[in-house]
Amino acid sequence: MIRGDVLRRFGRLDDAEDALLIVRDHLPKNFVRWQGNLLVAEAQLYYAERDVESCCELAQDALDILEETQSVSTKAKIERLYVRLQKLHQLLVLYRTWEGVLPSGGCVMQLSTDVVIIGGGVVGCLIAYQLRKLGLRVIVLERGVVGGQASTAATGLLAPFKPLGKLEDSYLDLQRTSLALFPQLVEELEDLTDIQVEYRQTGTVRIVPEKQASRLEKWTREWQERGVEMNVLQGEALRQLEPALASEYQLAVAVPSEPQVRAAYFMQAVALAAKMRGVLLLEQCQVISIERECSRVVAVQTRDGTSVACGHVIIAAGAWSEKSRDAV
Ligand SMILES: Cc1cc2nc3c(=O)[nH]c(=O)nc-3n(C[C@H](O)[C@H](O)[C@H](O)COP(=O)(O)OP(=O)(O)OC[C@H]3O[C@@H](n4cnc5c(N)ncnc54)[C@H](O)[C@@H]3O)c2cc1C
Repeated sequence: MIRGDVLRRFGRLDDAEDALLIVRDHLPKNFVRWQGNLLVAEAQLYYAERDVESCCELAQDALDILEETQSVSTKAKIERLYVRLQKLHQLLVLYRTWEGVLPSGGCVMQLSTDVVIIGGGVVGCLIAYQLRKLGLRVIVLERGVVGGQASTAATGLLAPFKPLGKLEDSYLDLQRTSLALFPQLVEELEDLTDIQVEYRQTGTVRIVPEKQASRLEKWTREWQERGVEMNVLQGEALRQLEPALASEYQLAVAVPSEPQVRAAYFMQAVALAAKMRGVLLLEQCQVISIERECSRVVAVQTRDGTSVACGHVIIAAGAWSEKSRDAV
């Protein structure tokens, strides 16, 4: 009865919004998973403008699920559908930003973009945000949930100096240049997202073995001569700065300029900012292969069958980056 009613409406697609209301009215209120059907219906609104046939197909899917209420095996089906619907929902958002990103034919799982980023940690999302600001279309593919790995677990210290490390080090130069841009980035992200990331210039204290005292003095002096504020702390001076330190630690170097953020908040802000700028973040999308034509990367494939054609791929898969690179 409901099915016929809704299908008749969808069949005509005169007014997709009517169809949405009908689906919503008939949803059982006690089954939260069925919220997914609302997303399907929203997707109808979106696809109605593009491809009548796929709208009907999606409506059919939703209605099939609605009919199979009690079956346990249906639950797994609903879960799969739910993941798919979340992606559709994200596409809906994307559509408002990027006209024409979806290929014709209504196949929602074949996307195309300028850049694919593998990994939705802080690195992937921040690169995505910056590239989007330059006007590129960017899709981030995340195999779990955005920010679900190291980036949220991190302590949030932004502390590039490694005691007694090399003075001439291009990686350290990069870190310091990046750190100098941080306050401006924080301001931008906080303004855009309203998430406070708790950036504070608290300074750091790093313990160094006592036998390294003379090397540490020399190393610190070198940095001071280069304009970096840095102090060697010993005994009482060290304990005054950090009274909770165990008594066996007697030597340390303090770098007052090194800041920190609340890593989990920073991650949230970066992901939200990327989304707000129009980056498409697709979760539950594990990249399993990268396709090439001659020497060029042309697409990536994900485990759930999504194919994303692209001009560039950036591997930002954290601890799994090497594995992802092997997929090339
Ligand atoms: C306990 C802890 C404390 C830390 N403290 C600090 C600190 O104080 N200061 C500091 O600078 N750093 C710290 N770090 C390190 C810091 O967290 C990482 O360097 C940083 O988060 C790395 O970011 P990422 O985006 O590269 O990796 P991740 O946050 O790990 O993101 C990589 C993402 O890629 C996804 N992925 C992997 N393979 C695939 C695939 N095939 N397809 C799709 N997606 C895929 C993963 O699911 C993951 O979400 C800490 C780390 C930990 C664990």
